[in-house]
Amino acid sequence: MTTWQDDASRDLMSLGGRLALLTRGEGSSVWDDEGRRYLDFLGGIAVNGLGHGHPVFVEAVSRQAATLAHVSNYFASPAQLELAARLKRLAGTGESGRVFLANSGAEANEAAIKLARLHGGKTGKTSILVLNGAFHGRTTGTLSLTPKAAYQDPFRPLLPGIRAIDPTIEALEAAVDDTVVALIAEPIQGEAGVVPLPDGYLARARELTSRHGALLILDEVQTGSGRTGEWFAFQREGIAPDAVTLAKSIGAGFPLGALITFGAASDLFSPGTHNSTFGGNPLASAVANAVLDHIETEGLLDNVAARGAQLREGVGGLPLVTGTRGAGLLIGITLSAPVAGEVRAAAHERGLIVNAPADDVIRIAPAYTIGDAEVEEFLVLFGEALAAVAATIPTPTETPA
Ligand SMILES: *Cc1c(COP(=O)(O)O)cnc(C)c1O
Repeated sequence: MTTWQDDASRDLMSLGGRLALLTRGEGSSVWDDEGRRYLDFLGGIAVNGLGHGHPVFVEAVSRQAATLAHVSNYFASPAQLELAARLKRLAGTGESGRVFLANSGAEANEAAIKLARLHGGKTGKTSILVLNGAFHGRTTGTLSLTPKAAYQDPFRPLLPGIRAIDPTIEALEAAVDDTVVALIAEPIQGEAGVVPLPDGYLARARELTSRHGALLILDEVQTGSGRTGEWFAFQREGIAPDAVTLAKSIGAGFPLGALITFGAASDLFSPGTHNSTFGGNPLASAVANAVLDHIETEGLLDNVAARGAQLREGVGGLPLVTGTRGAGLLIGITLSAPVAGEVRAAAHERGLIVNAPADDVIRIAPAYTIGDAEVEEFLVLFGEALAAVAATIPTPTETPA
């Protein structure tokens, strides 16, 4: 008898994705092919902001699919125009902002690279600064912005002109000069283990990039769309970038990405310089409109902030936990030993989905809709997983000499 794992190994590219065969979801629960339920506190990696099967999502997909799903980019659609205006308003771009709609985070960031190149073309500069620890995507362009040897080395040569610096204010001050065309950064590095930029970093970055005529481009694919309790993480810092990218939670599970520009950066693209067949299609746009409207009218960002605080406090006393990082419902839980992989597996065995972006960090990114019941259940299951792994770690006195 062949199993689904056999099918996956035979038919899918060998890239992972074998933890379970998930067949159904509702709220913050998903079920596998054997009817086992899991509490989903990863949310499709910070994607399923309304959980699974939310009526607003289901209704928007169904209604728009029956009305108008796709048109070529020779045409505009009401859903696309509504989404662009909404994103400008939420980002606070004012009149001069503009929006390009894509289908994923990497595509939004590809558009940002081309924006930087167009800016460079006007100023004669080519150098793009990125930060060590960054993750900007897996396409060859965005991979070039992601300074991690294991990801990059098999695919060299990559894009030229990209320089990685440490995410410190000192490194920033040393690196930003008149040769720099753009600085591209995540306000909180999600894939690195939910690592926020140092205090004051974005304000200093804004100051230095403005002074040297470079663009400040923020990758808010993971932190945006309300994930941190603000629509955009940069809004916590009181600055405005030249451009920001979104994806993940923006469609609550429908594939969609966006590049939003501010001020003069809005005039860089012109007809023929960029586009996408699927980008900005009415179906994806209508779903994002419905999702963002629901978050706004239900005041879900308040829930994101409150549940985030509740979770950070709740995990404080659990075994192995040394602290938490992040904001809102993007939380990195740091551990006293490099056992995040074991903790993730122990959680999975107990019906809890989390992930381990680093050896000593567990990440959670649950739905914006979670309530007391989900938080309580998470704390029980996660506490049990931590205790089980802690019991396997020899205490110093038991360690043989
Ligand atoms: C996930 C992620 C991306 C890539 O998004 P895809 O939709 O997988 O292409 C880019 N940047 C950040 C910060 C991300 O978290």
